[in-house]
Amino acid sequence: MSTVILASGNAGKLKELDRILAPLGLSLRSQGEFNVPEVPEDGLTFVENALIKARAAARHTGFAAIADDSGLEVDALRGAPGIYSARYAASEADTWGQGDAGNNRKLLSALEGLPQSERSARFQCVLVYLRHADDPTPIICQGSWEGFVLPAPRGEQGFGYDPLFYVPGHDCSAAELPRDVKNRISHRGQACALLARALAQRGA
Ligand code: IMP
Repeated sequence: MSTVILASGNAGKLKELDRILAPLGLSLRSQGEFNVPEVPEDGLTFVENALIKARAAARHTGFAAIADDSGLEVDALRGAPGIYSARYAASEADTWGQGDAGNNRKLLSALEGLPQSERSARFQCVLVYLRHADDPTPIICQGSWEGFVLPAPRGEQGFGYDPLFYVPGHDCSAAELPRDVKNRISHRGQACALLARALAQRGA
């Protein structure tokens, strides 16, 4: 097995990706094990931010690295919150509250009064694989998941914007979908499947 570092501290992501990569002979380890320092995610795109994170993990550990960057793009907001999804309301926490709940309140307010036809949105996920920090040909895979922003939260599962994300094919919110269904059809699930295929083709 060859070691690959996941440039994320999220245990859920580690488990999901590890299941996909183990059959390819890759053993995924968290960057937390190696005390990889936080890097500023100051890119302007999901691709740039995923590359920044993967490169920092590869540089620090000397192993291959994978990073993901994801977020919600709302058409009526010209793509916002986009790469800023995790911290959409962070600078206005006094008004909206902290964390996911604050982000969701701010989003609902920004779209208040708009009919469903003007609430289209999609989750985006970019996954980057670097063989080493100076790899000139990273594998870059992107998944996107189309839906609409609901006028009020629905469902208890998931995280982030899941309770506000209506999934047309399943007539429910992402927070009402069983976890295994979400993992299969989501932006992240799609990007993971593409990465597994690209790595298998390359003979990783
Ligand atoms: P990160 O890529 O893990 O930093 O996630 C970026 C942010 O996008 C998260 O904090 C969430 O707000 C949002 N996000 C990304 N993927 C999902 C998802 O599957 N469901 C809900 N929110 C998500």
